[in-house]
Amino acid sequence: MKVLVYSSKDFEIPYLGKANNKSHQLTFIKDALSSETAMKAVGFEAISIFSADEACFITIEKLKDFGVKYIALRSVGYDNVNLRAASRLGIKVANVPSYSPFAIAEHTVALLLALNRKLIESNLRVNRNNFNLNNLVGFDLNKKTIGIIGTGRIGAVMSKIMYGFGCTLLGYDIEENNNLKEDYNLRYTSLKELCEQADVISLHVPLNAETHQLINEDLISDMKDGVIIINTARGSVINTEHVIDGLKNGKIGALGIDVFENEKGIFFKDNSQDIPSDELLIILNAFPNVLITGHHAFLTDEALTNIAETTIFNLNCWDSGNETVNELTKDTVMV
Ligand code: NAD
Repeated sequence: MKVLVYSSKDFEIPYLGKANNKSHQLTFIKDALSSETAMKAVGFEAISIFSADEACFITIEKLKDFGVKYIALRSVGYDNVNLRAASRLGIKVANVPSYSPFAIAEHTVALLLALNRKLIESNLRVNRNNFNLNNLVGFDLNKKTIGIIGTGRIGAVMSKIMYGFGCTLLGYDIEENNNLKEDYNLRYTSLKELCEQADVISLHVPLNAETHQLINEDLISDMKDGVIIINTARGSVINTEHVIDGLKNGKIGALGIDVFENEKGIFFKDNSQDIPSDELLIILNAFPNVLITGHHAFLTDEALTNIAETTIFNLNCWDSGNETVNELTKDTVMV
């Protein structure tokens, strides 16, 4: 199949090339998919996209007109794709449902530890030959309560790691995972109770209508003073303005994010020569107790290998006239 790979990054091309093993004709472009760039897909039967690409209704309609039949996501999340439109227009969409929950959970813990133990500030001081320890006090995670919102694949690994640290685990999810209750003594609670009791809150829900701006001023007011919030899920799961207010008034002790609600058009690029324009990002960057990474929790050798292999697997299935188990459109209600 002829496949146009949108938003391709230098670091992933070798992985995709190896997994492809010359099965498909892959064309890599750096442009993100949008209604403007959809026309680049003329002549391609399939496209592959990532989380910053925008497959909205108009874009999907254009792709259909240009003869695209398949969309292979190289991500777990698919909040950027209008699945109903794709289903209605007969375009099949598949994701990579699990490439390495360890990559994301471990990055979540890295953010937490770096914030709690003030590693960035400590390193900056050492680089300046300053070995003063004032204001670098953190706390033991042992015996602290961690609230895990979303106990799916990534939340489950996060539970295992934090159990290993000696934490008490609270979980919130629409579906309970009994293994987590048995193996790590995780107790499911209401969202309110989780917020009231957790010293650290970690977000692992997909972005959907229910989770959009889930962390808002009401919920923040329920949280413990000095709570640490870590978000490696999707930026819009939190209301950034409300979280900034919480940071300003000290309610929130620290914030670690790998995702940001306005990340589209900013993340995945070198903007270092531009004047920063996103007000929320400028404010967040100014806080010493905010640590931001540019959506790179997935960036491990294992995850990239699995992303590439599953993407090619999905394309192989379609190419041979079969369904893929990772298809998202088959269960979509037709409108
Ligand atoms: P998953 O589907 O295994 O788990 C998601 C969990 O959220 C499920 O248990 C589900 O029941 C729960 N959930 C869904 N809607 C909910 C709601 N309204 N309220 C409470 N719980 C709800 O997914 P996963 O593999 O654990 O990934 C979680 C999310 O992490 C993805 O959707 C993606 O957005 C994000 N992610 C980020 C990165 C990154 O690089 N930062 C990488 C991969 C995934």
